[in-house]
Order: sequence, then structure tokens, then C-alpha cells
Amino acid sequence: MPSHNLSRIQIDDLDVIGYSVAGEETVIALPQLDVCFDVGKAPDQIISINHVLLTHGHMDHAAGFAYYLSQRKFCGLPAGTILAPANCIKPMEEIVDAWGRLDGNRIPANLVGVKPGDEHPIKPNLFARVFPTKHSAGSVGFTVIERRKKLKAEYAGLNGPQLVELKKQGIQIDNPLEVPIVTYFGDTQYVDFAQLDYVVKSKILIAECTFYEDEHTGRANAGRHMHVDEFASLVERLENERIIIAHTTQRTPMHEVRKMLKKALPSDIHDKVMILMDRKYRK
Ligand SMILES: [Zn+2]
Ligand SMILES: [Zn+2]
Repeated sequence: MPSHNLSRIQIDDLDVIGYSVAGEETVIALPQLDVCFDVGKAPDQIISINHVLLTHGHMDHAAGFAYYLSQRKFCGLPAGTILAPANCIKPMEEIVDAWGRLDGNRIPANLVGVKPGDEHPIKPNLFARVFPTKHSAGSVGFTVIERRKKLKAEYAGLNGPQLVELKKQGIQIDNPLEVPIVTYFGDTQYVDFAQLDYVVKSKILIAECTFYEDEHTGRANAGRHMHVDEFASLVERLENERIIIAHTTQRTPMHEVRKMLKKALPSDIHDKVMILMDRKYRK
């Protein structure tokens, strides 16, 4: 029996599995991309994923990172890689070290400090790009981007052997193309993410939208989280095929969240929005 009952949303050939409740726990993984956004309390289902992309050091997002690393050792897996804001690395190293002393076994870890603008390889054609968010000191979001090649327009009419011939002559027949697959905000207050082209065009967006009720706007500001009205004005300017809402508050019941979301969003956008913790994804 796995440690967690995770939600599961399938989008074409990608599974999004996770659990995300504000202040309690947030962990969202895309196993086929080999990435896990934040680590929550390290559910069993994410231990075999090789990359954890940590957005900030709050306990509900980061609590299980040392357990993730040690479980990988226990299962005979190579050291896990955790990307985290650069200012989180020293305390994370201290925690890993302290757990190693407490447990009596050294915990192998590959902790990588990142800052906005950085890119980190995930798979041969896949990398994570880091962008700033507005939540806690150094907090970041991530977009996982696929690198493809696109044939240059002037060679579009040529057949296979002709293209091979050009390649043999050392001619560059294609242009590099970046295809943003998934963006994860982590926790953040409203920021005009529509200025980031790769966020706008990301096939999947996983966005926090913590608060829904009018009287919760103050809470949203104080905790540096997004309110549904801000979320609505943001997503209107994005072009994502699918938007998954994470980090919903426990203060508002799910049936109310659904209602308020429907009210706040134009129907074409509402149609592509899913709430991670909605009952229908929790089987
Ligand atoms: Zn949080
Ligand atoms: Zn937080």
C-alpha cells in the first residue's frame, strides 16, 4: 500500500500525479519526464524519479527531501538530484548531514543551487529553466522544455537522400526549436508571468491558486499567494492547453472552489482548467 493516495491526471502521453493542499503538503510529479516539482512528505510513488525541482524551503513543500534521498539509497538507486534556490542549499546540506549522523548512515545527495535564468539538463532533449516567483526569499518556478530540431524552410521540399547529402556537406539544415512542456509556479503571489514566452506557450501549466473568497484577498496578500481574481486575469493572457490548479486552501470546501472558479473564468478557459485535488482525480 503506497504512503499517499495521489491524484492522477492524464494529459495525452503524460501523467501528472500529486497531492497539494496549502500549508499541508505539495508534491507534483510527471514520471515520464522524470521530474517531481516540490517533494512534500516524499510519497513512495516519487522516490524513483531522478529529479526533484524544489521551488522554496517551506516545510509543506520541502519536508521530505532528506527522506527522498535516503529512500533512494535504501532502494539501491543513484543519489537523487534536487534543484533548489541557491539560498536553500546550505541549510539543506546541514539537514542531510544531521540526518546522516542521527541515522548512522551517510545520505548520498546531489544538491544543485539554482537562480532565475539557469537551465539544468533533465534528459538528453529535456531541460529545466528557472524563473523568479514572488513568495519567499529566492523562491523560483520551473519550466521543463524539450529541445527539438525544425527543418529550415528553404529545405522543406527536399527528399531524404537530398537532406542526407546536404548534411554530409556540413550544411546546417535545421534550426533549434524549444517546446515548453510543463511550467510549475510553486507558491507565488501574482506576477505578470505573461511576459515569459515559455510560460505563455507551455503545453501544461501547474499554477497555485490558493484563495477564492472575497474576504480572503488579505490572506492571499499576507501569505504571498494568488487569489482566484488574480489567477483569472493572469491565465487570460496565457496560451496553455491545460491548466492544473494546485495549492488550494482548506478554508474553502472543494464544491465552493469549483463554483467560484467557474464564476471567475471565461468558459473557454474554464474548460481547460482542472483542480488537482478534485475528487474525480483522486482514485
Ligand atoms: Zn505552500
Ligand atoms: Zn510557501
